[in-house]
Amino acid sequence: MQWGLIGASTIASEHVIAAIRTQEGNSIKSVLSSNAQRGADYAARHSIPASVTDLNAIVDDADIDAVYISTTNEKHFEQAMASIAGGKHVLCEKPLAMTVSEAIKMVHASEEAGVVFATNHHLRNAGSHLAIRDLIQSGRLGKILSVRIFHAVHLPTHLQGWRINDAAAGGGVIPDIVVHDADTVRFYLGEDPVDVVAKAGISGMGQGVEDSVMSVWSMPSGAMVQTHESFTHPFAGTGIEVHGTEASVIARNVMTQQPVGEILLVDGSEREDVEYSDHGLYDRSLSLFTKAVAGDGRPAADGVDGVKSLAVALAVRQAAVQGQAVRVDYGGI
Ligand code: NDP
Repeated sequence: MQWGLIGASTIASEHVIAAIRTQEGNSIKSVLSSNAQRGADYAARHSIPASVTDLNAIVDDADIDAVYISTTNEKHFEQAMASIAGGKHVLCEKPLAMTVSEAIKMVHASEEAGVVFATNHHLRNAGSHLAIRDLIQSGRLGKILSVRIFHAVHLPTHLQGWRINDAAAGGGVIPDIVVHDADTVRFYLGEDPVDVVAKAGISGMGQGVEDSVMSVWSMPSGAMVQTHESFTHPFAGTGIEVHGTEASVIARNVMTQQPVGEILLVDGSEREDVEYSDHGLYDRSLSLFTKAVAGDGRPAADGVDGVKSLAVALAVRQAAVQGQAVRVDYGGI
């Protein structure tokens, strides 16, 4: 399978290019950048044969089977719709789009075109999260009472651009990190948040978009979810806790791009370390995507998963702005 990269991005550079090349028979033909020189430099740095500045050069290229979209968030919709219209399979970065209705259009267009459309939610590919999900779904924790997510990190200097300065490009910690936490909770519990309350803050790290948020979500089962996402916390560490009537899971350092972290299963006086696979998160995402293209199974997170994580994030932002509870609007999907 030949790929076109839409976006000369950091995430492609740091994770996804290698993950594509790890898949047998997969290669990258070209990369799209809005800047010819940056695109050429990027292509040279990553041994990609060509760089282009016109989206049609990828969309109309019959040799390209699939695209990976990792531009800034406001571009995903248009680029995905054009790629789908060109018959390409699409792996799109989160958030899928700026609005739920745009994201739903992407899903419907891909269904009509018969192409695979997936969202690159990496966390549900982690061995750690798969192990926790299995514990929950096996009933080992009993009835789930609550989930607490600690996802306050310090945004690395090289990423302190549009994410903290540019609302129009989809900046802000809510579209950046809340979407991942929403996807993880949905993946664990197999249900969708109903309504949310939230408070957000702008500390001064950037301009105009929130860099911290705390929220509480209600789940249909009655479970409560508490989350904290931030770009400004150098020493907080990440984690997730799932508390049930029979046991709790306490996981540290697992809200990350690496296959790392510790998981503890706590049950009365017993404390047991939970073992998990240390495969690469993006390797698994790409492996399931390429299999789905070959007609074998489904991607780790499909388009509907991307719509729903976006819907939760947008509800969190609306709740923070309005200072009142907001029902999550999934747009009927
Ligand atoms: P980057 O800022 O690295 O790249 C986004 C765009 O910015 C690129 O497409 C590029 O435009 C432009 N750009 C990159 N470097 C420069 C530069 N030096 N000067 C000017 N413009 C530049 O973003 P990320 O890689 O961090 O994020 C891209 C997407 O991926 C986002 O949607 C984000 O939400 C998502 N993401 C997902 C992660 C995951 O684990 N699933 C993790 C991180 C990000 P052009 O292409 O036109 O050259």
